[in-house]
Amino acid sequence: MTVAGAVASRYEAVIGIEIHCQLKTVSKMFCGCSTDIDGAAPNSHCCPVCLGLPGVLPTINKAAVEWVIATGSAIEATTPAATRWDRKNYFYPDLPKGYQISQYQLPLAANGRLTFDTSEGPFTVRIRRAHLEEDTGRLQHAELDGRRVSLIDYNRSGMPLMEIVTEPDIRTGEQARRYAEELRLLMKTIGASDAEMENGQMRVEANVSIRPRGREEFGTRVEVKNMNSMKAVERAIAFEIERQAGLIDGGGAVQMETRGWDDPSQSTYHMRLKEEENDYRYFPEPDLPPLITTPEWLAAIKTRLPELPAARRTRYQTELGLSPYDASVIVNDADASTLFEDAVKTSGSGLAKSLANMITGEYLRLVKTAEGHVDPAELAKLVLTIDQGAVSATVGKNIFVEHFESGQPVTSIIEKHGYRQISDAGVLAKAVEQVLEANPAAVADYRAGKAAAAGFLVGQVMKATRGQANAAMVQAALRERLDRSE
Ligand code: ADP
Ligand code: MG
Ligand code: ZN
Repeated sequence: MTVAGAVASRYEAVIGIEIHCQLKTVSKMFCGCSTDIDGAAPNSHCCPVCLGLPGVLPTINKAAVEWVIATGSAIEATTPAATRWDRKNYFYPDLPKGYQISQYQLPLAANGRLTFDTSEGPFTVRIRRAHLEEDTGRLQHAELDGRRVSLIDYNRSGMPLMEIVTEPDIRTGEQARRYAEELRLLMKTIGASDAEMENGQMRVEANVSIRPRGREEFGTRVEVKNMNSMKAVERAIAFEIERQAGLIDGGGAVQMETRGWDDPSQSTYHMRLKEEENDYRYFPEPDLPPLITTPEWLAAIKTRLPELPAARRTRYQTELGLSPYDASVIVNDADASTLFEDAVKTSGSGLAKSLANMITGEYLRLVKTAEGHVDPAELAKLVLTIDQGAVSATVGKNIFVEHFESGQPVTSIIEKHGYRQISDAGVLAKAVEQVLEANPAAVADYRAGKAAAAGFLVGQVMKATRGQANAAMVQAALRERLDRSE
């Protein structure tokens, strides 16, 4: 048994995830400053409100509120008839007011859920809440003229943030990663956030504890921050489970603390002891009135929601005949999904499965390593050409690669290479004969009962015809010929 396996047989992990997403709005949460701060000079996107100067008043950004309500609707959460703003008080130089305006008792969304696939089947996580708050500034520790200094950029101060908190339902690092991936897809789909982890638009924190298997009571949790990729989320949790098991097995105890993930060493390190909730001295924000959410407003936001990933996966299976696997793979990639949707519009749903095969098999493989583009109408034409038997499936793949790399229309590529499919039985019989003569060993193998030898011989015929032979006909001709002369 592996070390991880040994730990897993004795302990069960309990995990809750907190995710912060930067919302896509034109202006900041409580002032008119632009949110377009990428690459901007430090402190160039600030005003008295987001700098926390005395005597200023916040105004609520309606678009940000609507994104949280839309998210709530997408995760089947409920929105209270009236919500409230609360001050979360703490001191840190990146928080100029000395408090953050947040939502404590009445979040804009509560009691939702998200279901997603894992390697062990579908899994549902209950989402406790999603609320709106403002982001902090950004501290940078640097060296200036030989002195160690801390620099502060308030451009990010007051940017709209949505915090989404799960119930402690997650049990493995993989479930945690898949939850975060599905939530990212959901955010991108509804347009609430670009949700890129690399640039901090989406920040994932994992609360991890372990308990002996069979025990109901939760263990002491550790909060892990600074995971910069989905892979890091899974790895950090696996590391933390091992670390905590090691502590307990060695007679020690887990300490309630905040730890950071260090990617180079693939380990977590102590950052600070965790604050207690009452240290924040939450109280209602006196500068903002409660926000009334009328049923008409909520309904209008819900109506504007696009098709959600889960619904789209189901539609691909029930209406377009895709396998659950193909439907997932395509929906999980926004570009692949758009390409598929557009190509189906041209080809009709009858060729949806062939389109899906080309996208999962060729397109998603190519985009990982090469620059290129696929015209959906050309993809539809290619799949139709293969379907009509004008070119073989093998040649079709080559055409796809060439179109992806060069952007040339499918018909030009076919003409240029003189591609066509050989379906003439006489021509194929001759090609089969030549291959059998040239490969007596494989023929003997086949006769000795090695079925794999037939595959090899088919491959040889395809090679001899530059992939243009009708593969199904070659297969039939080969078997017929081999079985006949036995
Ligand atoms: P905080 O105020 O520190 O953010 P919360 O009570 O809001 O704490 O919980 C934060 C997250 O931690 C939630 O996702 C919750 O499900 C999770 N959580 C709570 N207790 C545990 C535990 N013992 N082990 C793992 N996760 C936990
Ligand atoms: Mg929290
Ligand atoms: Zn401002």
